Amino acid sequence: MTAASQDEVRRNNLALVLRHLHFDGPVSRSELVAYTGLNRSTVGDLVTELADEGLVVEQPGASGSVGRPSLVVAPRAESAVTLAFDFRVERVVGAIVGIGGEIIARVDAPNTRTDVDPQAAIEQLLDMSHELLDAVPDDALWVGTGVGVPGIVDASNGMVKQAPNLNWIDVPLGEMLARGFREVFGDVPATFIGNDADLGAWAEHIRGAGAAVRNVIYISGEVGVGGGVVLNGQLMSGAGGFGGEIGHMVVQPDGLPCRCGSRGCWETVIGRNAVIHCLPGNTDATDIAQVIDALHAGNPRVRAGMHEVGNWLGIGLGNLVNIFNPDVIVLGGHLSALLPELKDEIDAMVGRSIRAAREQVHIVVPALGRDSTLVGAAESAFAPLLERPIEALRQSSTLVAL
Ligand SMILES: [Zn+2]
Repeated sequence: MTAASQDEVRRNNLALVLRHLHFDGPVSRSELVAYTGLNRSTVGDLVTELADEGLVVEQPGASGSVGRPSLVVAPRAESAVTLAFDFRVERVVGAIVGIGGEIIARVDAPNTRTDVDPQAAIEQLLDMSHELLDAVPDDALWVGTGVGVPGIVDASNGMVKQAPNLNWIDVPLGEMLARGFREVFGDVPATFIGNDADLGAWAEHIRGAGAAVRNVIYISGEVGVGGGVVLNGQLMSGAGGFGGEIGHMVVQPDGLPCRCGSRGCWETVIGRNAVIHCLPGNTDATDIAQVIDALHAGNPRVRAGMHEVGNWLGIGLGNLVNIFNPDVIVLGGHLSALLPELKDEIDAMVGRSIRAAREQVHIVVPALGRDSTLVGAAESAFAPLLERPIEALRQSSTLVAL
């Protein structure tokens, strides 16, 4: 083997070990030997290199039997961090996520956008970034930023092509945010913008309800309804990366106008507004919990409205079962609160899908709670580090320098 290819093998092995620690948590050196198929001394060298970079530490693990606990290799959450945002129509949630996936700090604020002004969004994200970065040690390395937005995104350049519920068309969010970061912080690592449901799907696939399977659909139930599809362990993108917009499947050709410009899209009958409208006398301030409370109280109009929402939800899910034959469909956002309430309607409608496929599907709530998109945003920012650890560290920013 040439020196160059040996170097390449070593870099790949280093990434393999770091990914395993990041996704699966602390393990012993013996487990790393078994997992990687490498010999013990090679694994020892790789662990030493990661430890020298400060990314991992060897510490006594929990002892399962009598005797001395063996050493485990663990990621050091505060050594390398990402900044992650879930930018929703109504709220913005931000977090610092450490290597290994631990959420070290978070802020959660109402979205202060002044309607269509993306610059206001940038300012809010910068303010939240300040607050979040203040919460981590100065020697932490900031390896990247990930932002989930409810819209159609060109992830290759951070361009938000269309975000109907934000009234955004062709907003270069990635470029604007990177510029804002540079003005405030100087030299900063890469910024990644992704579709909220794509990020949610990926997070639920690697760390959540779809972790054990290869075909996962995540549906984000917010004001809009987004979709992310993981097929055979890969996020489905489509020709331009815009695929998976299942919220805009037309289910009612003569239905309500949708913010996307079409009519009778799935989101017009199962989105947040459709649910809120089930409650007589609803206002802008009405939330999903109030609708569910009224349902439990036996309000007949709420029951009739929710029955209809449940039917629509089941019809769409049945179509997805037929098209994708998923192992798991994860209902995020307000849809997770509806799942137990509308189970009969969902079961009845999904029951009309092709039997072989419907017998394989599990329709569940997110294992990551409300954090699926946030966690996915963090993972998008960790990707370069997990691909090429040493090179990515050289391109990251020490917080002490900011
Ligand atoms: Zn639509």
